Amino acid sequence: MSASHAGPLVDRFARSIEYLRVSVTDRCNFRCTYCMSEHPTFLPKQEVLSLDEIDRIASAFVGLGVKRIRLTGGEPLTRRGIVSLVASLSRHLGRGLEEVTMTTNGSLLSDMAEDLAAAGLSRVNVSLDTLDEAMFARVSRIGKLSDVLAGLYAARRAGLAVRLNTVVQAGVNDRAIDDLIAFAHGRGMGLALIEAMPTPGVSRDRPPGVPLSEIRADLQKRWTLTDAPERAFGPARYVRVEETGGRLGFITPMSKGFCDACNRVRLTCDGRLVLCLGRREQVDLKTVLRGQPDDEAALQAAIAAAMGAKPRRHAFDHAERIPLDRGMWSTGG
Ligand code: SAM
Ligand code: SF4
Repeated sequence: MSASHAGPLVDRFARSIEYLRVSVTDRCNFRCTYCMSEHPTFLPKQEVLSLDEIDRIASAFVGLGVKRIRLTGGEPLTRRGIVSLVASLSRHLGRGLEEVTMTTNGSLLSDMAEDLAAAGLSRVNVSLDTLDEAMFARVSRIGKLSDVLAGLYAARRAGLAVRLNTVVQAGVNDRAIDDLIAFAHGRGMGLALIEAMPTPGVSRDRPPGVPLSEIRADLQKRWTLTDAPERAFGPARYVRVEETGGRLGFITPMSKGFCDACNRVRLTCDGRLVLCLGRREQVDLKTVLRGQPDDEAALQAAIAAAMGAKPRRHAFDHAERIPLDRGMWSTGG
C-alpha cells in the first residue's frame, strides 16, 4: 500500500496528530514491576496484527500526515520479523515520514542494532532504571543488566541515537539519578526521567513514584540545569546539564499536564487505536482492515473519524477509567 498524502489529522481541540506509536507485540522477556504482573496473560496469536497489517495501518497514517512512527511493545525486539517491518516502513522516509524509532528494553539490541540501523531506524529509547545489578534484577524480575548494557553499546556503535528512559520510584532509583546522568551523558546518550503512571494489572504495593519536581530540586544542588527552549516532539521538558553538556528530560504525566500539546495516538498489537494512554477511548481498526483488506480509503476514513474521540486530557488520577486489558505492555507505554 502506498501512502497517498492526504491529511493532516486534527482533533476536536485543534491538535495536529503527527506521531504514531505502534505496539508490535504484547509479549516481553522482562516483567517490570511497574508495567505488568509476574504472570501476565498475553493475547492469542490470531488476535495480534500480522506485520503486513501493521504496515498497512501505519502506512495509512503516513498518508494522513503522520511524520513519526515509534515501534514499541511489549518488547518490540521479541517480535519475529521486526527488522523487516522497520525496513518496510522506512520506504516512506523522505515521502512524508521523517523518522522510524523504537522504544525497547535493550536486552536484544546487541545482536540486532546494526540490522535495525541498516533498515532505517534512527533512534532508540532504551529503558534503564538503575545501574545496580541486583536492583535491576528486582525491578525487571527476569532481566539482566549486562544484556542491556551490551545492547546500549551496540546501538551506539551502529550509529543509533540513544535516549535512556528511567521510571523514577522511591527506594529504587530516586537516589541514583546522578549516576544515570553521568553514565548516559558520558556516552553521548540522552536521559529522560518518567513519573510512574498507574496501570491496570500491576501490584498496588509496588514502590511509590516520585514527583519529578522533587528530583529536579535535588539535582539542582549538584548540577547546573538550564531549560532547553525546544519541546522536542513530545511530552518531555528538557534541560541542559551544563557540567556534562548532555540533555535531561522530565516526563511528568502525574504532576504536571502536557495534554494541550499532545500530538500522538497509539496502535495496540491487536489493532485498537488508542486515543489517549490514560483514557478508555479506542477504535477497533483491525475489524475495518480485516473486513475490507484492500480498501485504504475506508481505513483512512476510520482513522480520521477516530480523531473526534480523542479526549482533551488523560485521567491517570482516575486509573479505573483505563480498561483492565490495556496495561502499559499492551498499549506501548
Ligand atoms: N519494552 C520496551 C521498554 O521497556 O522500553 C517498550 C515498552 S514499555 C511499556 C515503554 C515504556 O513505558 C518504557 O520506557 C517503560 O519504562 C514505560 N513504562 C512502563 N510502565 C510504566 C508505568 N507504569 N509508568 C511509567 N512508565 C512506564
Ligand atoms: Fe517489558 Fe518494557 Fe514492560 Fe518492562 S516496561 S515489562 S521491558 S514492556
